[in-house]
Amino acid sequence: MNGPRDAADRARKALLDWSRRRPPAQPRPDGEPLYVMVTIDTEISMGGALKDHSVQPIGPDVRIWGRLPDGTWGIECFMDTFEAFGVRGVFFYEPFAKNIVGEAAIADAARAIVARGHSVELHVHPEFKMNLEAVRRGEMEKPSALLHSYDADAQRAYIAEGAADLERWTGVRPIAFRSGGFASDEVATDACAAEGIPIDSSYNVWAVANGVSPFELTPKLNDVAMLANGVLEVPTTNLFTRGPKRGMRPFELSSLNAAEMIAAVDEMYELGMRVCCTLTHSFRLIRTTNQVRFRVVTYRDLPLERWKTSLPPPPAEPRYPSPPAWTAVTRMALQAIKDRGVV
Ligand SMILES: [Zn+2]
Repeated sequence: MNGPRDAADRARKALLDWSRRRPPAQPRPDGEPLYVMVTIDTEISMGGALKDHSVQPIGPDVRIWGRLPDGTWGIECFMDTFEAFGVRGVFFYEPFAKNIVGEAAIADAARAIVARGHSVELHVHPEFKMNLEAVRRGEMEKPSALLHSYDADAQRAYIAEGAADLERWTGVRPIAFRSGGFASDEVATDACAAEGIPIDSSYNVWAVANGVSPFELTPKLNDVAMLANGVLEVPTTNLFTRGPKRGMRPFELSSLNAAEMIAAVDEMYELGMRVCCTLTHSFRLIRTTNQVRFRVVTYRDLPLERWKTSLPPPPAEPRYPSPPAWTAVTRMALQAIKDRGVV
C-alpha cells in the first residue's frame, strides 16, 4: 500500500476533497447506490473508403479487436480491465458492418464479448447497410448516417434487423439501444417499444444542444427517465468541466482525466442521481501514433558503435523541453499537500 501509485491516488483524493463542489447530500433514491455504467460503442470505420477507392474500410481486426503489431488494444483489453476489478462492461455493438466486412467477422467479436460475461447491446449506424462496390460504382446512393432521417417504418426495420442479428450471433437479445452519432429521437424509442427493447440510451443533452440529435424532450435529461411510450431513457451523462475550454461535455472516458471523473461520480451520488452512463469507443485505446517515438533502454542498448562515427557536434545552445504551465501548477499543489503531511 505504499507504492507510488497509492501515493498518487491519495494525493488526488486529498486534492479533490479540498477542491471539489460538495452539494448538500440528498437521500439516495429508493436507497439504491449510484449505478455507474461503462459503455463502449463497438464498430468498424469506413476509413475514407468511399472517397478513396484505393482504401479499404478498417474492419474489426483493428477497430474492434484492436490488433496492432505492438499489442492488442481493443475489446479484450477493456474486458481484461473490467475483470481485474470484478465488473462488467456494456458493448454497444454495431451489426450492420456485416454488409461491409462480412457477417462472420462481425458475429465472432460479439460472441466473444458475451462468452466472457459482458453485455452486448444494439448500436446502429444505418450508413453501413450498403453494398460498398455498388456505391463506389455510382449504382447505389450512400445511405444516410442519420437514423432520424428515415421514416418510422425504416427506423423500426433497422432496429428489428440489428436486434435479431445480435440475438442470432450471441444467443442473447439486446435490451438497450443507442443510435450511431446520437442521431435519433422519440421515433426510434417508439421503434424500441414496438420491438420489445425496453431501454433507449441515445439521448445526450450535449448532442441535443449542438443540433446533432433532434430529441425535443422537455425538460432536458441528464439522468434516467421513463418516457411516455414506456421506454426507459438512460441518457449519456454530461458534466460541466471547469478551467480552460470549460463547458458541458459528455462523460467520454477519453476526454476526461481520472480526477474529473472521480469528482463527477462523487457529486452525482450526493446530488441523488440514479445512473452515471459513461461512454467510449472500442478503438480508443489503439495507439495510432507515437508507436516508434520512444523506447525504454539501458546504457547497453545505446548505438555506441554507430555514434562513434556519426554523432554531430553538440549545438551551440542546449535545447530544453518545456511542459505546459498547468502541469507545474499541479506539481506545486501536490507538493504543498505533501509538505503538510497529508500524503
Ligand atoms: Zn457509433
